[in-house]
Formats: sequence, C-alpha cells, structure tokens
Amino acid sequence: MTAQLIFALALLLTLGVFAFTMRRYFYNFRYTKKKAISNIPARLRETFKVAIAQQKIFRHPVMGLLHALVFWGFIVILFGSIEMVIDGLFGTVRVFSFMGWFYNVLMASGDVFAAIIAVSILVFLFRRLFMHVKRFYGVEMKPISKADANLALSFILFLMITLLGMNTFYLLETLNADQNAVGVFPVSMLLADLFANMGDGSIIFWHHFNWWAHILLIFVFANVLPYSKHFHVFMSVPNVFVSRIEPLGKVDNMESITREVKLMLDPSAPMDAGADEPIEKFGVLDATDVNWVNYMNALSCTECGRCTAVCPANITGKLLSPRKIVMDVRARMKEKSPGLIKEGAAFDDGKSLVFDYITEEELWACTMCNACAQECPININQPSLILDMRRYLVLEQSKAPSGLNTAFANIENNGAPWQFSPEDRMNWADELYLNETA
Ligand code: SF4
Ligand code: SF4
Repeated sequence: MTAQLIFALALLLTLGVFAFTMRRYFYNFRYTKKKAISNIPARLRETFKVAIAQQKIFRHPVMGLLHALVFWGFIVILFGSIEMVIDGLFGTVRVFSFMGWFYNVLMASGDVFAAIIAVSILVFLFRRLFMHVKRFYGVEMKPISKADANLALSFILFLMITLLGMNTFYLLETLNADQNAVGVFPVSMLLADLFANMGDGSIIFWHHFNWWAHILLIFVFANVLPYSKHFHVFMSVPNVFVSRIEPLGKVDNMESITREVKLMLDPSAPMDAGADEPIEKFGVLDATDVNWVNYMNALSCTECGRCTAVCPANITGKLLSPRKIVMDVRARMKEKSPGLIKEGAAFDDGKSLVFDYITEEELWACTMCNACAQECPININQPSLILDMRRYLVLEQSKAPSGLNTAFANIENNGAPWQFSPEDRMNWADELYLNETA
C-alpha cells in the first residue's frame, strides 16, 4: 500500500508539472495569428507517410533506419509503460497479461526494441561526441544545444537499460519462485543467464530497483522534454498533421492585399466578412506575428540541421541558416512569453524577431528554393516564415535590396519589372516581316 501511495504521489507531481509547462505553451499560442486547417483526409495520409512511416528520414539510409527503429520502438514500449502506471497505482502485476498471445508479441517486440534503441543511442552519442558531423554545428548551435541533445540521449539510454534490467530480473524472480513468467522476453532471456548465480534477495532487489528506476525516469524525462529539443518526441506527429500539404513552390497570397487588388479591379465586388477591419501589420516582425502553425513548427524542430545542410545559401557561405530561423522564433517567443502573461498582447520589450534575432542580410540571402522544407523530416516550412518577414520589410519599412527596389518602381510605373514604357512593348516587332505586311 505504501508503494502505491508513493507511486500515486509521483504520478500526481509529474502530471502537475507537465500541465504547468503545457499551460505556458498553450498560453503562447493565444498570441499567434489564426490559420485554418482543412483537407483532413490528405493530412491523415501525410501524417502516416511522414510521421508514422518516417518516409523522409530514409534519405539517409543507415542513420535514417536507426532513427526510425527508435521511433517505432518507442510506440511499442509505450504500451508497457501504460501497463506499469496501472500496476503502480493498483498494485497489480503485468495487468495486461490477460491479452494472451497478443501480450506476448508486444512484450517480445518491446524487449527486442529496447536492445535496438540502446545500441542506436550509443551510435548517436558516438557520432555527436567523437565525429565531426557538419550539420551538428553552426552559429545557432550553442554549447547548451549540444548538452541538451546529449542529456536527452543519455536519458533514453538509461530508460532502455532499466527496461531490460526489469525484464531480466523479473524472469529470474519468477524462475526462482517456480512460477511461470507472463510475456516473452527474447533479449532479457539471454541476459538472465549472466545473472543466474545471484542470490534470491539480490534478484528481488534488482527487479524492484529497475522497475522503479524505469518508471521514475519516464516521469522525469516527460518533464524535461518540453524544455529540450527532444520535445519533438511529443510534437512531431501533430506537427506533421497540421503542416503544409500544398505544393512547396506555391506562394500563399496575402488576403488583405488580394482584397485590395480585387476592389481596385471591381469596386462593387462583395467584401468578405471582416474585410473592413483595419490591417494591424503586413508580414511578420515579431514572434507574435507568426501564425500558430509556424509556432508549432518552431516548438517541434529537432535541431537536426538537415535543412541547413541542403541550403544553397548556407553552403555558399551566406549568413542564412534555415534551422536558425526556426530556432529564433522559438527563442524569441520564450523571451517574450513572461511579459505577455503579465501584461497581455500589448506587452512591448522594445525588441523584435526581425532585427534583434534575424538580420535583413539573412532574410535576403534566401533563394526560395524550398530545399530546406523538402528535406525537413517533420515538414517544417522555413521559406514561408522567411517570406512573411520579407513582406514586413518591404510593405512596412520599404526595405528591400536595391535591385528589387528598381523592379518594384518599374512595376508601379510601367506595369512590368523592366524600365520600358508600356507603349514601347511591341517595339521589338517593328522590323519583323509580319509587322511590315500588316
Ligand atoms: S528556401 Fe531559402 S532557406 Fe530554404 S534551402 Fe532554399 S535558400 Fe535555404
Ligand atoms: S527545421 Fe526541420 S530539418 Fe531543420 S533543424 Fe528543424 S527539424 Fe531539422
């Protein structure tokens, strides 16, 4: 009974801290802009393809496969974790074992996946600590980002070690008590041979130790994740669901501008509801100007650097790094959040995302090639953010590179980006035979 009470208190504390953290994040969402989500069937297909089947991650076959195995393993192991929570609360032992063969399949898969995940994590840690993988570096990758990645990987490694330990000593405990173990544990069965000579008391101790260590690590890890780049463990699937499903090259029109143009062409055209509301600002200046999908993208970013690794601007030595753009949105919102909670939407600390975090030089270095969005394993759309920040610079500040300003002036005066008057457009045909006969 005491153990159940301690477990219930630990669970309550975990849920309480988690709810507190999530509340802060959801509060931030209230200060982002609206964006409608439609075409649910296409979104479900995309989620299955990109998030569940991990399609994009396989562009790097070896590391991709390891990452996918870790993801699929987590899904299988989640079942065992839910069982542990029920066992911990109600004092039962392997409560789902009534499922028979299905339970055996799940336990066996979880046991094998625990070993695969442990080996994969060791490979990931080795790469991060001892190999110079270019995409793990960059101006945005501060020492804290690297420490964060290593800490989360170490957590996962200990989770897998304690899971295997729990299964191993459970098998030995039931064997010593002449009972039949429920579930099948192929890897732990092999490990059990290594500890077969241990005394009964030690086996019972290590079984309980691993059980508690595993579940408490899950509780702590769940509360560390939201402050880490590994928040994507929670966020990546929903992020893919809300991500952009239109072709990448399609540029979204700005509703307010489209409306103005329509009215210029036909002043009697009917206006949509809310069309007469004053426009607050064109484009994105600060983190509170991005839409909620952009903010969700920022929270989901794994900082893997696959986007920056394929960015032609970054490769050719320009300042731009699409990973930095996404990380800056998250960092700026985090900085502004306490003020927003205290003072509401009107809070102004004199800083902004563009200028204080992201420079004009970075924004204008983008070629809008969409390689970054194509490569991102969780469908983050970096170019749409860059485009909206450029829109702010051009429409609110008249700040554009000189080459573009000339084109804009020509469009205004001549109706085309070139410096010729509209009357001269057919001059090129003057000397053509067809023209002469006409
Ligand atoms: S769209 Fe821009 S940021 Fe993305 S890869 Fe191309 S140049 Fe880089
Ligand atoms: S935006 Fe996507 S590709 Fe780039 S670092 Fe984040 S998760 Fe990786």
